[in-house]
Amino acid sequence: MQQYGLLGYPLTYSLSPAMHNAAFEALGMDAAYELWPTHPDALPHKVDALRHDPRLGGFNITVPHKQVIMPLLDDISPAARAVGAVNTVIRSGWTSSPQDCTLNGENTDVYGFQQMLQEAGVPVQGARVLVLGAGGAARAVIYTLLQMGADRVLMLNRTQEKAAQLLQDLQAGERGEVVVSPSFSSISLIINATSSQDPWPGCGLTSRQVWSYGQGFAVDLMYGNMLSGFLEQAGHHGWQTLSGEGMLLYQAARAFELWTGQAAPVEVMRSALMRTLRG
Ligand code: NAP
Repeated sequence: MQQYGLLGYPLTYSLSPAMHNAAFEALGMDAAYELWPTHPDALPHKVDALRHDPRLGGFNITVPHKQVIMPLLDDISPAARAVGAVNTVIRSGWTSSPQDCTLNGENTDVYGFQQMLQEAGVPVQGARVLVLGAGGAARAVIYTLLQMGADRVLMLNRTQEKAAQLLQDLQAGERGEVVVSPSFSSISLIINATSSQDPWPGCGLTSRQVWSYGQGFAVDLMYGNMLSGFLEQAGHHGWQTLSGEGMLLYQAARAFELWTGQAAPVEVMRSALMRTLRG
């Protein structure tokens, strides 16, 4: 049986096993996806053990390993390098030469976020976008928005130093423009990429100020709470709302395809995700 899994710490709950195991079952594959809680001190040893495990199919990475795993891998995709984080590892060359196989890092959050916006019909080309947060998710979001042709991305974060670092990392060589700015006029897309449902005070604002500057879509990357406090406010002020389940689904579907070479049974995975979320 092929083994797939998620490395993170602490790791008590994830929706990924439900999605991937449903996909394996639907395609009749002899494979299983499990949680592999891994303390940061044990990460190099765990990655080495996985590299040489004949049963390995592939694995995902979550907090706190998304950045620190990068030097342990042999190759990093251009998107993962630009974002500065890896969430999916693909092993290649194993069947021809187990000694010389390589572990390749990818960031499928980029694809997941893009697919979610496209499926929901959120216009990005030429848009002015406000992104709240400067963590791993915000990095993938801003990179994707620029790839999709956003005109301007304004970013606010509670910790200024992290915002400045993100700005420096993502600015070079990208289309569009990323600025840390209090000028909000003509914004048509607001994305909450923080882990708070009320990110405004931390970012030095009251929400009412911002909702009244424009109209459009409000997106909260959080999932499992279809109408978060953030989205509730947005809806109250006439904005269309979207929560992060689609991103979670499509990042998993992309990882599945990279690992197996088969088209992901997206609707099977979506049903498993929604069933698990409903508990
Ligand atoms: P992270 O790297 O830990 O970053 C957290 C961000 O939230 C930082 O910018 C942090 O600001 C900010 N923050 C935390 N508490 C805040 C508060 N009370 N007020 C204002 N800002 C606050 O986490 P992440 O990986 O980027 O994830 C962020 C969110 O996105 C989480 O809710 C996660 O579940 C979600 N997410 C969803 C998907 C999906 O597939 N839908 C994928 C990835 C992440 P500081 O810099 O000041 O600490």
